Amino acid sequence: MYKLIAAIIISLYFIFQLFLAILQYRNRNASIPKELEDVYDKETYIKWKKYSAEKIRLSIISEILNYVINLVLLMTNVFSIIVKNIENDYANSIIVLSIYLGINFIVIIIMSYFADLKLESKYGFNKMTLKTFILDQIKAGILMFALFIGIVSLFILLHKTMGDYIIILFTAILFVLSLLIAFVFPYLSKIFNKFVPLDDGELRDSLTKMLESHNYKVKDIKVMDASRRTTKSNAYFTGFGKTKIIVLYDNLLNKMSNEQIIAIFAHEMGHGIHKDTLKNSLSSILIMFIFVLLAWLLIKIPNLCNDFGFNKFNYGFASIILFVVLLPFVSTIIGFVTSYFSRRAEYRADLAAVKEGYGEQLIEALKILYREDLGDLNPHPLIVLLSYSHPTLLDRIKNIRNNKD
Ligand SMILES: [Zn+2]
Repeated sequence: MYKLIAAIIISLYFIFQLFLAILQYRNRNASIPKELEDVYDKETYIKWKKYSAEKIRLSIISEILNYVINLVLLMTNVFSIIVKNIENDYANSIIVLSIYLGINFIVIIIMSYFADLKLESKYGFNKMTLKTFILDQIKAGILMFALFIGIVSLFILLHKTMGDYIIILFTAILFVLSLLIAFVFPYLSKIFNKFVPLDDGELRDSLTKMLESHNYKVKDIKVMDASRRTTKSNAYFTGFGKTKIIVLYDNLLNKMSNEQIIAIFAHEMGHGIHKDTLKNSLSSILIMFIFVLLAWLLIKIPNLCNDFGFNKFNYGFASIILFVVLLPFVSTIIGFVTSYFSRRAEYRADLAAVKEGYGEQLIEALKILYREDLGDLNPHPLIVLLSYSHPTLLDRIKNIRNNKD
């Protein structure tokens, strides 16, 4: 019975994802709005169409691969056969999880090799060597593996000792853990990149002045050597309180005028002033609580694991059910809500740049980002509604121009 339900849920989700991919594929041919005509020249536009077609095709292949693997793993009782004679709850859970994570890890590396390395190289974005790529994957894999096994083992321990109080306690622990991760994130990212303070000079002076005029304190403005891996540009905040650091990709400095960089910086500062990072953290606590609640509800289903061949409850397998069957669905719904609020925050942050008098420069900068990254000028409205954390370029330009006095 539960097996059938699981099969139906993952199949429905798979069909939905395919439907979205096809929508996106077909929408590539929609005509470009007047405001965006100068983003791409004809040649680049053709390049974009090819790039996005290939990207969508790869994502469809990856969806199919994941679907087939998950379906086979769940329907064939393979996990229960392997741990049949292992009595210890920790051992049999960790073995089941390790096998699943191992298989997933291989699929992720293969897909990422085609999507992040080959495709991005073909269109000139990628600067990663094969060695950097493999090292990155291994580092990320080990981190994920440790985190996953750690969290599930902790869950087993707490459930065995605390019973139903586990929901509150486990949420609290995850909360502390995510605080800790946010805290060590700047150090963690040093595993992958180098950060140096932004050079003294005109740019640094203008940025510092802007921060001071809002009495907004940050510890430093740093430049990250993103160009080691990609040609794409970005800027973000890291850390919290007075230890906040604003990170600029070195690509940003190479590609944009000082005024355009200031405009992007003003946008980031807007996020800071509106405490968007804090709001994000709060909403992720709520989301974690929902996930823990789901995990707890799964434990309450008495014969869940028996349907898949186990002779008793297996925490590792239940967490696979959680991640493969329940979370994709629930995350889609949560993503719909959070991306709505995220888009609103982006509009607001753009207006911070408008207030500083850098509205037009922000538009120029955004157009450069889209051009350089081969961004989608015309995403399908349903996909924007469901999952876009940022409004479309057209909507952002309209918002900026409508609010300029
Ligand atoms: Zn933003």
